[in-house]
Amino acid sequence: MKICSTRSENHIATAPEAVLAGIAPDGGLYVPDDFSEIRLNPAETLTMSAVDISSAVVGRLLPGFGESEMHALIESAYKNKFETDDLTPVVQAGSAYVLELFRGPTSAFKDVALSVLPRLITASKEKLGVTEDIVILTATSGDTGKAALEGFHDVPGTRIIVFYPDGGVSDVQRAQMVTQKGKNVRVCAIKGNFDDAQTGVKRIFASDRREGWAKESGVRLSSANSINLGRLAPQVAYYYKAYADLVLTGAIALGDEVNFVVPTGNFGDILAGEFARRMGLPVGKLICASNANNVLTDFIRTGCYDRRRAFHKTISPSMDILVSSNLERYLYLASGGDTKLVARLMTSLNDEGAYQAPESLVDAMHRRFGAYCASDAMCAHTIRRVWESERYLLDPHTAVAWSAMEQFRKEADNGLATVVLATASPYKFSRDVLESISGKVIENGFEAMDALNAMTGVPVPKNLAALRDQKARFTDCVEKGALLEYVQKAVKA
Ligand SMILES: *Cc1c(COP(=O)(O)O)cnc(C)c1O
Repeated sequence: MKICSTRSENHIATAPEAVLAGIAPDGGLYVPDDFSEIRLNPAETLTMSAVDISSAVVGRLLPGFGESEMHALIESAYKNKFETDDLTPVVQAGSAYVLELFRGPTSAFKDVALSVLPRLITASKEKLGVTEDIVILTATSGDTGKAALEGFHDVPGTRIIVFYPDGGVSDVQRAQMVTQKGKNVRVCAIKGNFDDAQTGVKRIFASDRREGWAKESGVRLSSANSINLGRLAPQVAYYYKAYADLVLTGAIALGDEVNFVVPTGNFGDILAGEFARRMGLPVGKLICASNANNVLTDFIRTGCYDRRRAFHKTISPSMDILVSSNLERYLYLASGGDTKLVARLMTSLNDEGAYQAPESLVDAMHRRFGAYCASDAMCAHTIRRVWESERYLLDPHTAVAWSAMEQFRKEADNGLATVVLATASPYKFSRDVLESISGKVIENGFEAMDALNAMTGVPVPKNLAALRDQKARFTDCVEKGALLEYVQKAVKA
């Protein structure tokens, strides 16, 4: 198995190189070219702990780390960070199984990968003899920033700077970020929206590529978003873990296929399910769930990817996205590694804002994927119905997935057991969840949290409950044109 770029055969990397670089030199994404050599038989995982499964999976996807080295790395990454030792529990709600990915330190599924990535970066640095500090730059619409801060704080040899849109994240999300502890962290608001933050960060990377100023300051810039293979690999493990749990509880027999419904933004989480399938997990349909930004629903149904459409701000903000970067990796896999095709489609997306996938690829995709979308109204209605009938409280992202599951069952049910991936605690979005189940609107995030707790009795995660008593450490706020200067000053400090 080689790790190569999705856009040309010339760029091959070792796993540590891929983790440190994030993106390939030709702008492509690193991907394993052959999964037949890295299979993991689900029968082997039945007696394994969550940490064992994770180290087996990550070790296969990122070769070059020793087996015991990887096990120790994963074990320390998750130690005392998650609510339970099985990290990502499966619970039954009505006729579905819910895979709870939000039991980590920031109550969002990104914790699963961002707990591991900093340690992979540190280990990769050591293997490659890199001595500079790695400075992680992250633009966030809410969830990624906090999960990255929590993952990187006080990790030796790394620093992290997070930019969030001033007034553009929920009260709880803002409190989570500005109270972050750690000596190597900085959080800064920008006067602009998420796109401005993202564009600003991209410009910083481009400026450094041109002028090399980071190196002069003795650091290297890197990013923590899901284009990094080191962020994708830990996500594959929970598909295996969920499958083992279903076998062990007798919900399925070993070898039965299982459907997974995935609330999707950047296509990272669902792509991890495709990786699991290629490694030998009996995955039935992967069902891609989108909100009103349904560019992926259209693509999976028609093969036409078209981002030239209105952007909608929804109550599931982590899925408000029109360019799903990880889809590029799927195009590579589904076309049998046709790098020329991928390069051509990505150029077309960049230049025209759209592309059409060839028929053979669309056929292959239809055998494995389904796609459905839900509006905010459908999402709110789903939260209410599932609460009333199952006494299970969904966050808005998970509710979009639940709605997709229901649409799938009406339209194309294959009779298999189905797992819904739950990606956030409902308390991160207390205002909208409260309004969905009761019609009551409370604007203040913490007051809404109390009211939601009083109404449902569902426990508030400790990390969120503790926030209101913590002091803000970070009050920086800059103009959107001033990010570069801010970072250059910060790396010299
Ligand atoms: C990031 C995120 C998603 C989308 O995951 P992708 O890997 O980007 O598809 C869904 N739900 C929540 C709560 C998230 O934070």
